[in-house]
Amino acid sequence: MDLSRLCIHTITTKPWPIETALERFSARGVAGMTVWRDALEGRDIAAAGRRIRDAGMAVVSLCRGGFFPAETAAARQEAIDDNRRAVEEAAALGAPLVVLVCGAVPGQPLDVSRGQIRDGIEAVLPDAQAAGVRLGIEPLHPMYADSRSAINTMAQANDMAEAIGSPFAGVVVDVYHLWWDPDLEAEIGRCGRMGKLFAFHVCDWRTPTEDLLLDRGLMGEGCIDIPQIRGWVEEAGFDGYNEVEIFSERYWAIEQEQFLGRIIEAYTTYS
Ligand code: ZN
Repeated sequence: MDLSRLCIHTITTKPWPIETALERFSARGVAGMTVWRDALEGRDIAAAGRRIRDAGMAVVSLCRGGFFPAETAAARQEAIDDNRRAVEEAAALGAPLVVLVCGAVPGQPLDVSRGQIRDGIEAVLPDAQAAGVRLGIEPLHPMYADSRSAINTMAQANDMAEAIGSPFAGVVVDVYHLWWDPDLEAEIGRCGRMGKLFAFHVCDWRTPTEDLLLDRGLMGEGCIDIPQIRGWVEEAGFDGYNEVEIFSERYWAIEQEQFLGRIIEAYTTYS
């Protein structure tokens, strides 16, 4: 069972504090961990990073920054300040990447939001570059275009990363958000040629999906051809981690050690 590229997000096993998650992941041979900022609350961030590495795992990324669009200049500045803090936290943790859920404002035209996202990323980039931390634009499924992200396709994320033109700005591919896109294979190839494919997230799309946010499935439990998309990502030159990112009330309600066993089984069978 090859788990050498398996990374699990702390939010996937949300009921576990980070200390428990790192022990249990490590005991099962999980190779990497992506840390959500809520898991670090009240902790010494640098010490948390050391504990993950001491347990034999890589710190893959910090989730999440973004949410740049806002109706007032003051609120947009607050978002930029918060993203600068995220970069500082990533540097303290030893995470090479901050994942960006870029944001949107209900009722504000999406192209206005995209302009604010670009301005926000460009404002944070000097800090990111100085800290050696990359910023990954994660396109979100269009069902979140109202309030969570105005960047909804791989093409839009590629266009933005290309326009920004920094080696510290790239793209995060999440199968949950992108599996439906007829241009996905071509745009993943384009992203790879630009050297901007920074991370790869997996889970599955359940039918019916009962909650827009909190009903993600385990790999193999839905309609996404994960091996096909993973193949495209690898053909594009990506050799990083396969990150299991599942928000699920149904799985958070079960015993987490049992859930972890199911994640590993699903990963080795269906990813
Ligand atoms: Zn994701």
